[in-house]
Amino acid sequence: MDYFSSQISRLIEELSRLPGVGAKSAQRLAFHIIGMPKEQVESLSNAIRDAKENVHYCKCCCTLTDDDICPICKSEKRNHKQIMVVENTRDLAAYEKTQKYEGVYHVLHGAISPMLGIGPADIRLKELMVRLEGDVEEVIIATNSSLEGETTAMYISKLIKPTGIKVSRIASGVPVGGDLEYIDEVTLLRALEGRVEL
Ligand code: ZN
Repeated sequence: MDYFSSQISRLIEELSRLPGVGAKSAQRLAFHIIGMPKEQVESLSNAIRDAKENVHYCKCCCTLTDDDICPICKSEKRNHKQIMVVENTRDLAAYEKTQKYEGVYHVLHGAISPMLGIGPADIRLKELMVRLEGDVEEVIIATNSSLEGETTAMYISKLIKPTGIKVSRIASGVPVGGDLEYIDEVTLLRALEGRVEL
């Protein structure tokens, strides 16, 4: 039985599709939104629509950005010969927060997972290989230490090895299965500094 209006049910249903939002939270959020002033609801829905319309992949490193080329790729202060490969923009943000990494990034938007049917062609690997045709000295693989992250790291290192470019993997101070974005900055830095050549 539908206790709510169909509009509220629809809102609850849409919200419950978001990650980490269960049926109860979706219901609570929906009622909260209904109770919000109209301008605030408009501002929220505009923010969602604008972000979706204007945010896209950086033409160089594939991170999410408003511009064609992201501020990191544009910066002359960064070392463009050192590329850190991460799974997503959240991981990039985690490393940026440490303010110690001076190289640039490459964002894969995923990891290889034979179990989920995600292959090398499903992540932004081709774009990375194109970048490596330029002047690059080191690729630091900073994918997560999950099975998928390790599989991806191994795959990438095998791909890069023949080019002669140095490939390293961040140290395993990072807990197994831990998402990079939740790990504190000290651990991230230690993992970066203790990276080993593959
Ligand atoms: Zn970029």
